[in-house]
Amino acid sequence: MAAAVCELFPDVKLDIGPATDDGFYYDFDMPHRLVPDDFAAIEAKMAEIVKANHPFERFEMSRGEAEAMLKSAGQTYKLERLADIPEGEAVSFYRSGAFTDLCRGPHLATTGDLKAFKITSIAGSYFRGDENNVMLQRLYGIVAESQEEINAIVERIEEAKKRDHRRLGPELGLFSMSDAVGPGLVLWHPKGARVRTAIEDYWRREHFRAGYEMVFTPHIGRATLWETSGHLGFYKENMYSPMDIDGQDYFVKPMNCPFHIEIYKSQMRSYRDLPLRWAELGTVYRYEKSGVLHGLLRVRGFTQDDAHIFCTPETIVEEVKYTVEFALRILRRFGFKDIAAYLSTRPEKAVGEQSRWDQATESLESALKAEGIPYQVDEGGGAFYGPKIDLKIKDAIGREWQLGTIQFDFNEPERFDISYVGADGLQHRPYMVHRALLGSIERFFGILVEHYAGAFPAWLAPEQVRVIPITDDQLPAAEKLAAQFRGDDVRVSVDSHADKLGAKIRRAQADRIPYMLVIGKREAEAGTVSVRTRSDGDKGTMEVAAFMEVFRESLKE
Ligand code: ZN
Repeated sequence: MAAAVCELFPDVKLDIGPATDDGFYYDFDMPHRLVPDDFAAIEAKMAEIVKANHPFERFEMSRGEAEAMLKSAGQTYKLERLADIPEGEAVSFYRSGAFTDLCRGPHLATTGDLKAFKITSIAGSYFRGDENNVMLQRLYGIVAESQEEINAIVERIEEAKKRDHRRLGPELGLFSMSDAVGPGLVLWHPKGARVRTAIEDYWRREHFRAGYEMVFTPHIGRATLWETSGHLGFYKENMYSPMDIDGQDYFVKPMNCPFHIEIYKSQMRSYRDLPLRWAELGTVYRYEKSGVLHGLLRVRGFTQDDAHIFCTPETIVEEVKYTVEFALRILRRFGFKDIAAYLSTRPEKAVGEQSRWDQATESLESALKAEGIPYQVDEGGGAFYGPKIDLKIKDAIGREWQLGTIQFDFNEPERFDISYVGADGLQHRPYMVHRALLGSIERFFGILVEHYAGAFPAWLAPEQVRVIPITDDQLPAAEKLAAQFRGDDVRVSVDSHADKLGAKIRRAQADRIPYMLVIGKREAEAGTVSVRTRSDGDKGTMEVAAFMEVFRESLKE
């Protein structure tokens, strides 16, 4: 595609063109402003290049030669990318026909190997994702083995657009963001807050049932805390500038862990007290470049469904198994049945004893095996402080999302010097596990909106029941019924507009309300309701008590 663009438009400057999950993109800077009408011409040129069956030839250059070549070609972005290549790493180019590109590769053998492709969209993209840099033109494409596959992908992209939480969120009154507040900071509207409350209530209840305790911790902490934790060393670029309180630096928290550790340290712990499982819906703030912010999926302030588990080596296997089981139960409740995992093991540079790494890694792997969860091992892909598993789910249209993480930590317990008194009366270092199941509430909510296309199941729906009086005469009966439902913890509203019944039902459908209760003259007199559901339409007239039974049952789904 880059070769085609270079042939069609003069003075193109190239940045990078990586593969994505779905296909690929390339970032260009050029005088011509690309529009969708250009796609056909670019695709035609691409087809010519494919037909010519040019081989992709890899060759290396010295840094100096590469620099001279890119300079003379005016490829200023490539020059910056060249400077990013670490000293000692090969500087590789690929040549294909008339096109040469600084590229790490790999590539297919020849352009003729490409079977089917399509350019899908164009978008602005800041160089290096930084809004202070120039805006480039990013051209997206997809590639597949056949035209049928391309059609299927296009269909999925269309479906994803319809479900886009950035569109549905404001449309359904769930959330918004505002320039006045700042990018990446979420405003939860009443309906979004209803869903969030339902998620959090469920989350807390399940945690208490599973033997967790809740903790609450501050939003800021002294610089010395973040020095002890190491965050000011290895995480500083994600933290916001400090504020001065009484002549001392305080930082807004990017993580909750140091606070939980301080709670642990507040008293002597015995092996008999362990495991300790402490959970917090902890709101953290992390710096993200403005160019990479994306709806609710990538934000600057978010609430982690965090927990830390402190336990002894004797119970670690059992504890991890328990944690994985718990994680799966929670994710399945939200309608995600297709769950898989990544297991990331010890990297070359790591802290902690080898025997602890081995035990921890084994406990993670055996838990995945016991649950029958398909998993891939990322050898050496773990953080320097411990092995982890990441849980990923597939949504309703087959997209994969990474959600929960169960992460061992051999670093913080050392840095904070935490211990427990063992059966032998001596001090021992506990195992510490960080664990988030949904990841962040914001991101999880964005995924849920897209998974359900805004039509939340009854237990999550912001508005579960809408009472619809046919005329104003039934308004008092409708209000009375709604008040009764509200008292029974049903999320309910009354449509008091003066529209015709058909319009009221269409509005309730558009708002994706699971249950509509229509009250006409007959129903008002008999104390019954005419029930409609979002998915099945008319369900006939029912006694209110009978409807409540149907409703209660549906909350279990
Ligand atoms: Zn943590």
